[in-house]
Amino acid sequence: MVAPLISEDIALDPSAFLGEYGGYIDELAIVAKAASGETLYQSSIAPSMMDKENFFERFSNIAKYLDISTYAVIHAFFDELFHKKFKSVSLNAEEIPVSATGFICPNKKGYWKYLAEIMVEIADLQVSGIILLDFRYPWRKYCFCTECIRDFRMLENLPVYFHYGLLEERIDLYEKWLKWRSGVLSDALKYFINHLNSQGKNIPVIVEVILDPISEMTSGVFEYFGQNLEELSKSVDGFILNIFPFSTIDKDVITDDVFTGIISLNKPIYLLYTKNLTESELEILKEIAKIVNAKKIFIKFAQIAS
Ligand SMILES: [Zn+2]
Repeated sequence: MVAPLISEDIALDPSAFLGEYGGYIDELAIVAKAASGETLYQSSIAPSMMDKENFFERFSNIAKYLDISTYAVIHAFFDELFHKKFKSVSLNAEEIPVSATGFICPNKKGYWKYLAEIMVEIADLQVSGIILLDFRYPWRKYCFCTECIRDFRMLENLPVYFHYGLLEERIDLYEKWLKWRSGVLSDALKYFINHLNSQGKNIPVIVEVILDPISEMTSGVFEYFGQNLEELSKSVDGFILNIFPFSTIDKDVITDDVFTGIISLNKPIYLLYTKNLTESELEILKEIAKIVNAKKIFIKFAQIAS
């Protein structure tokens, strides 16, 4: 039920790791494109992470011989390298649980092309699927970069001085804006999958969904992160629920009805936990896994070892 997620900050040797743990695992998730924007494989377009230029390939090649499926994890709309050029902008001072620095605006078509090429490269590395982390807006009230303001203003025939305050005054406009920005994200996903298919790569794509009480669990992802799960479900091969990344895990808020919506979409569901894991938290994760009939619980490897 539990499988390791190998992130970019972990120092280990792929062969030694698989020699030691290979007998206990059948699936494995490895970061292929880090939050820094660097890759852990040899890319022809992105810079490789120092000392990890072939880390991913070594892992996935050996794993294949051991009948272990490898999932490539990509930080999608988070990239410290290109953040300056494509950053997501908010005009509001709302405090958010994690910094938005590093988040890319999902409306940047230049970045779509870049990420699509990276996905094509990764599809050639003996992988069973691609997991897109950070496939979202950083928070509510994003993005108000020049392009987003221009595109939405033109679409709705709004005055040149359009700004966030106008959305606060007019609920109808706010709803249109939410719908518009979720459409941008859904279009990006379609673009990536079409591009993969056009290159002959038919690889499953799984999208991260944040599950946290601060962002109102699954019912909040539309307003907080711009994710229209129903729309996304038409393109993805599964969702991976990132459990309580901003809060301490709390059994009481995890009820069956939190998951009704996402279960009804009929897509494979995986779980992800990225923090230190205690025995009791593992029990809660297993309970969630039971409710959503999860295929796998991915846990950051360092946490398994500690
Ligand atoms: Zn934008």
